[in-house]
Amino acid sequence: MIIYGHRATHIDTKEIPLKCSSCGSENTLRISVFSRYAHIFWIPIFPFGKTGASECSNCKQVLQLNEMPPEYKASYNAIKEHTATPKWTFAGLVIIAVLIAFAVYSSKQSDKENMARINAPKAGDVYEIKTSETAYTIYKVNSITDDTVYVYMNEYETNKPSGLSDIKAKGDEAFLQVPIGYTKAELLQMLEKGEIRDVERD
Ligand SMILES: [Zn+2]
Repeated sequence: MIIYGHRATHIDTKEIPLKCSSCGSENTLRISVFSRYAHIFWIPIFPFGKTGASECSNCKQVLQLNEMPPEYKASYNAIKEHTATPKWTFAGLVIIAVLIAFAVYSSKQSDKENMARINAPKAGDVYEIKTSETAYTIYKVNSITDDTVYVYMNEYETNKPSGLSDIKAKGDEAFLQVPIGYTKAELLQMLEKGEIRDVERD
């Protein structure tokens, strides 16, 4: 269950020199300004606007922004103008930006690693292969001569990447013992096109 919604945080309270519209007292009115923000699991994600309330210390009447008479609203607007949105209410946006930057960074690192492994192949390397939009399998490097990498294809296919772990679990017997040669350039091109999704090495 995802718990989300919005909350408000108090940012300012000022006394205002108006008569209370309810009891007529003077110098008893205070107006508070709140900053609203969206949250997910109580982590503030982003701010959206401000709201306010007035309170009379004599008659205890509390009015929300939409209930205030026009002269209260004018005072509220004047106070609001001098308030800043608390920076911490942007926390979620900052966290999301950092997570995206990290995901981009680690995907670039993994691309680099895969390229390095294709350029310097080792027997036993396992290539995750996308043979079509709905077919995935694995190749295992059997031997290398000069520029050619000989792989054994697995006899099984799966329709989604998450099924590859099942194929890997089938062991060496599931590879067709027929070496198929690819040049490193071909393999790099397959990596570029996403036909090789990953290169694993023990
Ligand atoms: Zn009052």
